[in-house]
Amino acid sequence: MATINDNYLKLKAGYLFPEIARRVNAFAEANPDAQIIKLGIGDVTEPLPEACRKAMIEAVEEMGDRATFKGYGPEQGYLWLREKIAAHDFQARGCDIDTSEIFISDGAKCDTGNILDIFGKDNTIAVTDPVYPVYVDTNVMAGHTGFANAKGEYEGLIYLPITAENDFKAEIPLQKVDLIYLCFPNNPTGVVASKDYLKQWVDYAREHGSIILFDAAYEAFITDPEIPHSIYEIEGAKDCAIEFRSFSKNAGFTGTRCAFTVVPKNLTAKASNGSDVELWKLWNRRQSTKFNGVSYIVQKGAEAVYSEEGKAQVKALIDFYLENAKIIRDKLTAAGFSVYGGVNAPYIWLKTSNDLSSWDFFDKLLQTCNVVGTPGSGFGAAGEGYFRISVFNSRQNVEEAMQRITEKFKV
Ligand SMILES: *Cc1c(COP(=O)(O)O)cnc(C)c1O
Repeated sequence: MATINDNYLKLKAGYLFPEIARRVNAFAEANPDAQIIKLGIGDVTEPLPEACRKAMIEAVEEMGDRATFKGYGPEQGYLWLREKIAAHDFQARGCDIDTSEIFISDGAKCDTGNILDIFGKDNTIAVTDPVYPVYVDTNVMAGHTGFANAKGEYEGLIYLPITAENDFKAEIPLQKVDLIYLCFPNNPTGVVASKDYLKQWVDYAREHGSIILFDAAYEAFITDPEIPHSIYEIEGAKDCAIEFRSFSKNAGFTGTRCAFTVVPKNLTAKASNGSDVELWKLWNRRQSTKFNGVSYIVQKGAEAVYSEEGKAQVKALIDFYLENAKIIRDKLTAAGFSVYGGVNAPYIWLKTSNDLSSWDFFDKLLQTCNVVGTPGSGFGAAGEGYFRISVFNSRQNVEEAMQRITEKFKV
């Protein structure tokens, strides 16, 4: 009899977004005239930059000609794309990252999950609370945890709370952890990390032989010149960190699919016999075996992000979303809310008023303003009492939503 991976049975049913959809649908059925505005799920809304579309159209034409047709590409990604990434995203910021250390993929979400393939079963793993749920669930699937308690915390994971009390910066743990997930600019809180703060993590990781799994999917939203875009801007990070990047949130590739992961060549972890093994070799072997590369057409589209036109068009997209963020921040602050994030990030994290639970706040906002956001408790127990508003929507919808909140919501 075939058996299953029992770890899947430990997973809490994908609860957050289905539950949001259930409540929104029930409300819409009971109130068919309500114009519901969704500022919930973290998906972009604006069309692909023209430079990317043009490059992809040209690539499609090349695929239609025997002389320029491409079959399987390199598993690690085309060199011309990795060269652009190394030069523009890293070397231009003073990070000594080589093209060989970049692995193109079809998503940062899958890479943050797949990376667990190359790590041992007995690592101590730390995540922030609240957190991007993928880090937690992939560890559950890999058998790195026990069962979840009533608060949804899995036995065996170390949860580092991030709340207004610590400025949404996890305290450096006193105990030793082997793998640490950090995400800056942060989803869901929208806060960013200074160089000094990241340096504390890099120092901790080097002292304990830990690996930082650094998710920088939202780096393009950073406008403050003091805030690092990459963990490799911190001295010593090449000895202790893997970085995940994506074209999803800068160039709107959520439906097009292209991302990359940086694994420095000198980064090592221990084998069970005590020897140091290069993680680059393992990730290269893993990708070459289980992955056959991103489509040529899509990689051509991603390359165009680094052209002069592409850069200007991506900046215009980011500026548009950041203006949405400013409108949301200003209006919610004027309405009396405590708001966080939304300056160098596309998420605003607010404290619910009158100590409402995250879900009670969700219902109240839906009923009084017909506006949908995401309950903070859905990202972890310490997110209770918070609420996420995303900036991914049209200007008109953002302004309309904020006007309704200003006029109708009694904080
Ligand atoms: C959106 C997002 C990503 C990007 O995922 P892709 O699979 O590249 O679309 C990665 N990390 C976080 C935290 C995100 O919110």
